[in-house]
Amino acid sequence: MSVTSTPVRVFLLPGRDRRVGSGHPWAYSNEINMDAATKALTAGEVATLHRVDGKPLGVGTFNPHTLISFRVLAQNPTTPIDRTFFETRLKAALALRERLYDEPYYRLVHGEADGLGGLVVDRYGDIVVIQTATAGMERLLPELLAALDIVINPSAVMLRNDGSFRRLENLETYVRPAKGTVPESVEVHERGLRFPADVTAGQKTGWFLDQRDARNFVAPLAKGGRMLDVYSHIGGFAIAALKAGAERAIAVDSSAKALELAELAGKWNDVSDRLSVVKAEAFGELERLRSAGDRFRVVACDPPAFVRIAKELKTGLKGYRKLVRLAAAVVEPGGFLFIASCSHNVTVEAFASEVAAGVQRAGRDGRILRSTGAGPDHPVHPRLPESAYLKGLVLQLD
Ligand code: SAH
Repeated sequence: MSVTSTPVRVFLLPGRDRRVGSGHPWAYSNEINMDAATKALTAGEVATLHRVDGKPLGVGTFNPHTLISFRVLAQNPTTPIDRTFFETRLKAALALRERLYDEPYYRLVHGEADGLGGLVVDRYGDIVVIQTATAGMERLLPELLAALDIVINPSAVMLRNDGSFRRLENLETYVRPAKGTVPESVEVHERGLRFPADVTAGQKTGWFLDQRDARNFVAPLAKGGRMLDVYSHIGGFAIAALKAGAERAIAVDSSAKALELAELAGKWNDVSDRLSVVKAEAFGELERLRSAGDRFRVVACDPPAFVRIAKELKTGLKGYRKLVRLAAAVVEPGGFLFIASCSHNVTVEAFASEVAAGVQRAGRDGRILRSTGAGPDHPVHPRLPESAYLKGLVLQLD
């Protein structure tokens, strides 16, 4: 079916319309009347969603084979989901980012909060990296790409569709350019700093746009002292700290490729002589530094998600506690600890409680200076507060 023809109709079960009716953008498979015809619809097809009595609740995409079956894209059911639709959404998303940032380096589209559930678009200047997470967005890629050309006309577009979340929608994983030639490392600008993002194979889309605000707050705390950037990736926290006047910084990561780029970033930003990189597992390296008596003015720990699925909650929480205990032990008296969690399943409260326990087990006292989260180019849909996955705390330790 072409996306411009009349969409098929999908019906909710009796009494299951309250959530979507109140503006929530999802309907789950067990809320939908999965009769044979509905079950047989093509995954990702554009459809309208209806109450039992026929009242339409919106238009979006439908996948009968996944838990979040219906994704509402527009509450007005007559909205055509075509190139013009994407153009309108992209223009609004762009206007917001242009208001927030001086330079075109940001997450341009962050899923539902930008009215485009299942889609992430990161912009690195003239180069755009796209991730689609739903069968619906995958099918709509041609319309999206055409709209992107009209709205920002990037020189190159990379499809980074290698995330494991795609399995939930039975989507294949792949990485390929959709337009132009994507260089091996793409230059990212952040508050006067330059970083080389590996958009083809690096973590996320090559750079952690989401920690921009945290980097900005943490960096100057290291002025005049030593800084330890654990789980450094390409050295975002370390290089920001060096630029803000830290004497020395050490970037620790288990990925040789990430550290190679961190060293390159050191050169680009003229701080190489004060930056060291260490390829090591974080917990072991923190233990080693503690035994060696090494202490730091600032320790930043920005690990990968310890809790990827709900089942991992208990062990993951213990992991955060242990990480804080080990990291707090190498913070000099009066120094600072930044600790982050990007686990969806860990609440702000649970995280804070593990952080407090870890600090206490390290035999330290201290105070929370700031709670951090993803920057405003990662907005949150008001009906999906739990999608605010990133949390962080900055503490001073006595
Ligand atoms: N702080 C970074 C982002 C960190 S992403 C920034 O601001 O850009 C998490 C990093 O942790 C990745 O680079 C990954 O290679 C690294 N990593 C994952 N497991 C690790 C481990 N056990 N020990 C050390 N590094 C690890």
